[in-house]
Amino acid sequence: MRRLLLKNGLVIDPFSGTETKNDLLIEGGRIARVGSALKAPAGCESFDAGGLWVFPGFVDAHVHAREPGSAAETLLTAARAAAAGGVTSLLLMPNTDPPMATAALLRKYSKRAALLPVNVYLSAAITAGRAGKKLAAFAALKKAGAKAFTDDGTCPEDPGLFAAAVRAAAAAGLPLLDHPEFFSITGAGVVNAGSPVSRRLPAIAPEAEYFAVLRDIAAAAASGPVHLQHLSLAASVDALRAAKACGLPVTGETCPHYFTLTDRDINPANADFKMKPPLRSPADREAVLAAVADGTIDIIATDHAPHERRLKEKGFLAAPFGITGLETLAPLCVTELALKRGLSKLLLARLLSANPARLLGLPRKGGLAPGFDADITVLDPRRSRRVPQKFFSLSDNSPFKGRSLKGWPVAVIARGLFVFRYGRPQFC
Ligand SMILES: [Zn+2]
Repeated sequence: MRRLLLKNGLVIDPFSGTETKNDLLIEGGRIARVGSALKAPAGCESFDAGGLWVFPGFVDAHVHAREPGSAAETLLTAARAAAAGGVTSLLLMPNTDPPMATAALLRKYSKRAALLPVNVYLSAAITAGRAGKKLAAFAALKKAGAKAFTDDGTCPEDPGLFAAAVRAAAAAGLPLLDHPEFFSITGAGVVNAGSPVSRRLPAIAPEAEYFAVLRDIAAAAASGPVHLQHLSLAASVDALRAAKACGLPVTGETCPHYFTLTDRDINPANADFKMKPPLRSPADREAVLAAVADGTIDIIATDHAPHERRLKEKGFLAAPFGITGLETLAPLCVTELALKRGLSKLLLARLLSANPARLLGLPRKGGLAPGFDADITVLDPRRSRRVPQKFFSLSDNSPFKGRSLKGWPVAVIARGLFVFRYGRPQFC
């Protein structure tokens, strides 16, 4: 049996609620033992994690791998970017071309995903053809491998259709993830209303997100669990907090850019600052940070949205929405949340690993106790490095290039094997 001993790291385990300097013995792809001064069995490889933080592998519930239909990324390059970012499990969004809306396509890509050395899961569209008109065949899509339902990229706006989707997802026993945005309000907007750049570029009224969030909370109250994707507004997180206080089955997500950047940071000459929802005001960023700190936000996901350089160079108005995120997830969370704001490492482990694993129904992921899958992310909290100009992702549309950050992955293990080490993914 393949064995690996990870020694002397600060082991952060949300399952037991502890962070302790410990050793981890991995056997056959699972965590076999946790303890101090564990002896390496004969022939066992060992890795010294002294001075490093050892997290359960990150679970990113919001990734666009762009396959099929675009040259911006592939399943393989997304998996390499994930490994480099400390993400050992990722859920792909269905807004591909054609969309992941048929059982045949789900089966084909589930088979391909299963060959990758990190855990890649597929979501399926809520509506047939992701067209927002009628429900997809939830039971057949689940049978074909779907782990969640979402129309991400768009939002099923029809309230009757959405309520039916929430009920169908609950009946299928899978999470319903919504991109909360009413496009009738967004119109041709590209930046946050009220921001300095909105004097030069068309604005998106915050109601585009907020009204959809309120609709989704109402659907959760009436019909079943709803997960709110990429929340960016103070009003949205306030509504989520109130809904949770009422005991409603609703969970929320945000992304590193919403607690790191604001609409004041936008360079209108650089469409790498263009994403959906748009960057918001400093007050919104503070509210999102507070909601992350107090547990209102359940998970941090990247919304990794690679785009070809030639498309991003079309200018702020014409370029597509979205930024890459997998490779900057860990250092942004460590630098912005743990080091600058003093959030605990255990909270980070819940936001990045345990909570998304629970949302997606992955029972042996998100913890570091014996019996859990040996998916492990080892970070260096001290060494500062600039975000590079080039990425392992096929695309490089990141607004964070050149930014000095700490908390970069040093070693990443999935199913007991190194998938990232010596500064590069260990597969090609
Ligand atoms: Zn979205």
